[in-house]
Amino acid sequence: MTVIGVDVGGTKILARFIDPETGAASGRVKVPTPKTGTADVLDAIAGVVDELDPDRTATHVGIGVPGLVDGEGVVARCPNITGWDSPVDVRGELTPRLDRVVVVGNDVNCGALAEHRIGAGKGVDDLLVVFVGTGVGGGLILDGKLRVGHRGLAGEIGHLTVVGDGRPCGCGEDGHLEAYAGKAGMEREARARAAAGERNALADLAGDSAIKSRHIEQALESGDSVAESIIDDAANALAMGIGNLATVLDLDRVVLGGGVVDKLGQPFLDQISQSAHFGGFGIEMCELVLAKRLDDAGVVGAAILAADAA
Ligand SMILES: [Zn+2]
Repeated sequence: MTVIGVDVGGTKILARFIDPETGAASGRVKVPTPKTGTADVLDAIAGVVDELDPDRTATHVGIGVPGLVDGEGVVARCPNITGWDSPVDVRGELTPRLDRVVVVGNDVNCGALAEHRIGAGKGVDDLLVVFVGTGVGGGLILDGKLRVGHRGLAGEIGHLTVVGDGRPCGCGEDGHLEAYAGKAGMEREARARAAAGERNALADLAGDSAIKSRHIEQALESGDSVAESIIDDAANALAMGIGNLATVLDLDRVVLGGGVVDKLGQPFLDQISQSAHFGGFGIEMCELVLAKRLDDAGVVGAAILAADAA
């Protein structure tokens, strides 16, 4: 079975043929994401599919988007895509145009699905995948299936409260995991401390631009104490969120990926593992492993999502 996977990002839209069993990819059509409204974004998605598959060899198209997607393929809003601030029925609009089975999913959920089927989560049925980058996103697999939830919220680990009355989160509330473990949250903290007179390598290395994962790595290597404490806070916040979810859901494994984890690697994972508590029943914490960093994971996961619907 050949399926088309489409990954809709804030800057580009990528389509490839994917074998959903192996993740093997072929063909590649990429266009910039239009910044002129959702009608043009839908046109661009239809355009990449038509260009990739003019002979209509694929029967299914999976589309991953950076926004909240309900069970019907309606995408509430995509903060990273200009002009996408009200719900769009992506599946309803594109099914007749593409004349194929169209399935729409959240891009993080697609990445999680790819890790589950062909990545570091392969072989277990109950899995949480956490991506730590600018923000913190997650995808949940239960009984071997992606759990989306009727509002699309399942797996949204970034906005779990981990500290009562804690640091402000980008979403407007306080004490969320993302405010501690996401790069944007770490940056706010590093700059606030610098402004309060606590000069630190994170703020210094980034200068006027956004803090990057490599800045975090460099600051830690230089032994900067503020960076160390910010990373300790991030590891503790992740440990609390992951430990709680792993207990409630009795997970087999947790996979961690994303820019921050890719850069800090196994030592960061060990730090999270050591702080995470599981249950209180004297049972060992489920295993935490690094993501496999699959090529085009969003495209592959979108295709797997569509194949699952077959
Ligand atoms: Zn939040």
